[in-house]
Amino acid sequence: MISTLVRTDPWPLRRQRTDELLTRYAFASELLGFYRSLLPVQEKAYRAAEEDHPGPTDLPRYVVDRVMPTVIDVTVADGPRRLRDGVVERFCSADLPDLVGRWLSGAAQTPFEVFLARASASPVLEALKGERESPLNDRHCPACGGLPQLSYFAVTGEALVTGPRYLLCSRCGRTWVFSRMVCAGCGERSGNQMPIYREEAQFPHVRIDACQACQHYLLTFDLRQDTAAVPVVDELACLPLDLFARERGFTKITPNLLGN
Ligand SMILES: [Zn+2]
Ligand SMILES: [Zn+2]
Repeated sequence: MISTLVRTDPWPLRRQRTDELLTRYAFASELLGFYRSLLPVQEKAYRAAEEDHPGPTDLPRYVVDRVMPTVIDVTVADGPRRLRDGVVERFCSADLPDLVGRWLSGAAQTPFEVFLARASASPVLEALKGERESPLNDRHCPACGGLPQLSYFAVTGEALVTGPRYLLCSRCGRTWVFSRMVCAGCGERSGNQMPIYREEAQFPHVRIDACQACQHYLLTFDLRQDTAAVPVVDELACLPLDLFARERGFTKITPNLLGN
């Protein structure tokens, strides 16, 4: 439970890990380079939201006024071309507070809308550390109701003790304990419906947890295998694993910040 109770400052670790992976995974350099440019923007939004503490009704307007302009600047300057063009088009045509409000309520949106809303609003949600009154079920975030982006096994400090499995929220970054033997997409419990794939040469600390019942997958990170891993950063770099899973007909429970 320790890692959910003791919150360390996540931003220096994210920057450092992104720099490490930029040298390790050349195939992910475009996406990781862009993420590296976004990190200071998100960190600034997180720190400001800790001070300002915007309430739920002010949140969309706050995000649009205080965060989104710099997210757009960085995307135009350093984003992959497809994302850049889509975001510029959306920025010119959309009712932006409505766009953020719909993302906050979990409405269906285009990939560009999701990126713009998520890149801008998620650091604010992360800073606010919200508490939902009645969680939907344990496959959704107890704080905001979001879907899990990934799962991970934490370091326990005791060599022979296997730690719990955590899910990490795709919206607010909150983590929560989740059963090892259950599909995080649909709740399936029979192991023969849940194939696990690995590519140990490149990703010794990562596995694909797939499910034939719902045809979803997510990536699981074993921090005991790589204690420097920062799951939310590493997940962006696992493009070959995403490709492998997609070729077998699986869809990620929810795409990551950069759309994979
Ligand atoms: Zn959440
Ligand atoms: Zn499933």
